[in-house]
Amino acid sequence: MASCEMCGASGQMFVTMIEGAKLSVCGKCSSLGKVLKEVAPPVAPQKKKQVSSAKPIAQARIIQVIVGDCANRIRQAREKSGLSQKEFAMKLSERESMIQHLENGQTKPAVDMARKLERLLNIKLIEEMKEEVPQDDEEEKAPSSGVLTLGDVIKIRKR
Ligand SMILES: [Zn+2]
Repeated sequence: MASCEMCGASGQMFVTMIEGAKLSVCGKCSSLGKVLKEVAPPVAPQKKKQVSSAKPIAQARIIQVIVGDCANRIRQAREKSGLSQKEFAMKLSERESMIQHLENGQTKPAVDMARKLERLLNIKLIEEMKEEVPQDDEEEKAPSSGVLTLGDVIKIRKR
């Protein structure tokens, strides 16, 4: 099977560029052109690069959480400041209904909003929590329920 494409000799073959053609030839014929490579058994597929190794080993994520009783805190601080809901809303350039919702707990402020309220009322609404992130957390978005079946893989590909 491994025989020279030029002379038919067998043995060690060399992929050689001869007059613009890539040929698998014997050592003797390879001298007629430029040897590109020795024919070797197929190269084993390269190991996947470990992407995660580039990441920092330990990560901590800071999560900002709005305190559970933020509604009360806002109301109390607002009342202490002597502002009506309407006046307070104007100060925040928000609608009065927004303040009502915040104070009756219907709405939880977004972090941005909570910051504004904290500054204005001199209260604490945001708690910072540190969450340790496992090294490969980012890649483990798939449900942890287990290994994908072939059916799942096909479904995913079709998407
Ligand atoms: Zn040959």
